[in-house]
Amino acid sequence: MNCLFCKIINKEIPSKIVYEDDKILAFEDVSPQAPVHILIIPKKHISTSLDIKDEDNELIGLMAQTANKIAKDKGVAEKGFRTVMNCNKDAGQTVFHIHMHLLAGRAMQWPPG
Ligand code: AMP
Ligand code: ZN
Repeated sequence: MNCLFCKIINKEIPSKIVYEDDKILAFEDVSPQAPVHILIIPKKHISTSLDIKDEDNELIGLMAQTANKIAKDKGVAEKGFRTVMNCNKDAGQTVFHIHMHLLAGRAMQWPPG
């Protein structure tokens, strides 16, 4: 499978890893949109959030828990942070292996662009 994030999981492509366990990997976004911009991904390949199955429910919870842990570790939890999962073209999804963006370190706008 020619998936960029699977290659990052397999260490075929380098990344700046901030958290790893047997199910989850988190690494710095190569093109940060905020002072803190981390991507949290499952090691299981899931193409889009539309492909999440019942059996993946725990995994998605672990992604959210990992975002919380990283936000606390980076000292941005109290001030606030944003988690985003883009799905398909109109949302701007460019990598088709689900990922949760963790953005923090500046005030966010709403509505998003
Ligand atoms: P999305 O547009 O929601 O699919 O997000 C994909 C994200 O992956 C973008 O924010 C990119 O900057 C990021 N990205 C692409 N290639 C890499 C890479 N090799 N390492 C880290 N982040 C990447
Ligand atoms: Zn993948």
